[in-house]
Amino acid sequence: MGSSKEQMHQNGLKVSFACPNADCEGHFEEEVQNASFDWGSERQSDGIGYAETSVECEICEDTFTVAVLATQTGKEVTLKGLTVADLEYIDDTFEHDYDEFLADYEPQDPFGVYTRSSKELDDLYYGSEILPRVQAPFNKMLYLQHIIAMEAYLSDRLIDIITTDSTKLLTLIGSTPSLRDRPTRLIEVAKDPDYVASTTKAHLQRFSFHDLANVAKFYKSVLNIDLFETDEHRKTLLAIIETRHDLVHRNGRDRNGNETVIDGPAVERVKEIFQGLIERIEDAYTKYKVSCFFQVLDT
Ligand SMILES: [Zn+2]
Repeated sequence: MGSSKEQMHQNGLKVSFACPNADCEGHFEEEVQNASFDWGSERQSDGIGYAETSVECEICEDTFTVAVLATQTGKEVTLKGLTVADLEYIDDTFEHDYDEFLADYEPQDPFGVYTRSSKELDDLYYGSEILPRVQAPFNKMLYLQHIIAMEAYLSDRLIDIITTDSTKLLTLIGSTPSLRDRPTRLIEVAKDPDYVASTTKAHLQRFSFHDLANVAKFYKSVLNIDLFETDEHRKTLLAIIETRHDLVHRNGRDRNGNETVIDGPAVERVKEIFQGLIERIEDAYTKYKVSCFFQVLDT
């Protein structure tokens, strides 16, 4: 794992820009020293990476310093002490660092995490004195946060099961065309004995777990549970996901430009609907764990 980070530094970062000297026609296409954010550090400020590279213009022979700053939101490449309009680079932050971070991540106690998150949101909701003019954005934030907590639970519970049970892994792959029919080179499998599990895990980690219609298929195959209890329940959940989209992508306006108002009852309702959903999944999960236990006794 550590080696890929070193390789990344060796690889460098490609940058291009026109020589900042106004009377010079020079153009830079450089591979400069890269910096990376350390996702493992406890404090975000400790994870910030920085690198400098000195480059010389072929035409005017003036030298410049390219600075790469790597934070958790991405990379910022600048010419030290100068403003350059056309400096171009491809931010590779989430191509390498984030993959590595995800591959190392093992969900622990998804239900406990969800319960604590939900409790904290309740504390915020019931324990805050909010100025009337910011009540609407406060409610929007809580509403979205409830959705995020639910998504994290759905993702982590599923990853937890398929990375510890090869039968469930097979069931999920068999019922998911994008995994089942994925072309695979034998060398990839030979290099990584956990190739199937790690590839499936990576797929799930990149999956948008608010896509409940497809998440329902995952859960049907792995825990044999219908996320949607009734047609009405399905419509309610999918409507919440549409509202999520409007809040995230249109700051609360629907496709016709109408404002979606998230009032107090809407926040409480979204919480209750997700709690009900997650408790049903946990029941199915408990039954599954019990059946695993008896299978072990039988053998
Ligand atoms: Zn120049």
